[in-house]
Amino acid sequence: MAMIDLKLLKEEAERLGVELDEAALNNFEAFAEMLVDWNSRINLTAITDPMGIVYKHFADSLTAFAAVDVPQGAGFIDIGTGGGFPGIPLLIARPDLHGVMLDSTKKKLMFVDYAINKLGLIDHGRTLHMRAEEAGIKVQLRNRFDFSFSRAVANLRDLSEYCLPLTKVGGTFVALKGAKAQEEIDEAKEAIKILGGEIADVKQIFLSDMGERNIVVIKKVSPTPPKYPRASAKIAKEPLGMPKK
Ligand code: SAM
Repeated sequence: MAMIDLKLLKEEAERLGVELDEAALNNFEAFAEMLVDWNSRINLTAITDPMGIVYKHFADSLTAFAAVDVPQGAGFIDIGTGGGFPGIPLLIARPDLHGVMLDSTKKKLMFVDYAINKLGLIDHGRTLHMRAEEAGIKVQLRNRFDFSFSRAVANLRDLSEYCLPLTKVGGTFVALKGAKAQEEIDEAKEAIKILGGEIADVKQIFLSDMGERNIVVIKKVSPTPPKYPRASAKIAKEPLGMPKK
């Protein structure tokens, strides 16, 4: 018997406009089993109950596809992927995409690498062990990705400084946020403008678990000025677009 309720996952995905075929559902089941197994050895997530995995990890990750149309073959980076969220569910649902799962914690990426291999996603996904602020100043990564996705990593202002430099001009940065998104948006508005972004949409989504999600869609409309991203200490000390203390 499957560990997670695949019928429920399929229905939730459908409500988000995502069609999951049998291969994808089998991969979601396999990923759930791997997550729980590895979590007993390394700390990947506090959510390990089957319903939590369906809603708070899998369906929650797929909300990105309800907010933006992602063309066939597009490339994305998942900033602060942790145990692979949202990047691995996005790749399971859409194996035509190409994803880089970035995180500064090596041991979490060992799990993500293992999952990429086991799920047969080796031609479409890879991990990158680096801080986002370091990736954003590398020529081979800066301004390269059609999409950047991120969940539960930093407030929207700091996250914009991580993600917008890596996003192509014409591309989209998608921040998966919870109920308090508006406060974060207000605080991030000026920074987003400075970094070359423009808020295009905030999509409010309620899954059947009733938790409110807000998917913030930010278009990259002009190049990020070369002095961004700054080093992490500077980002913490001088929040972008905020009056100096
Ligand atoms: N995105 C995953 C999720 O939603 O389950 C993981 C969230 S976890 C709370 C935050 C992750 O972001 C951690 O794995 C941490 O190592 C990573 N992280 C935080 N700041 C980062 C940075 N500046 N560069 C790269 N990774 C970062």
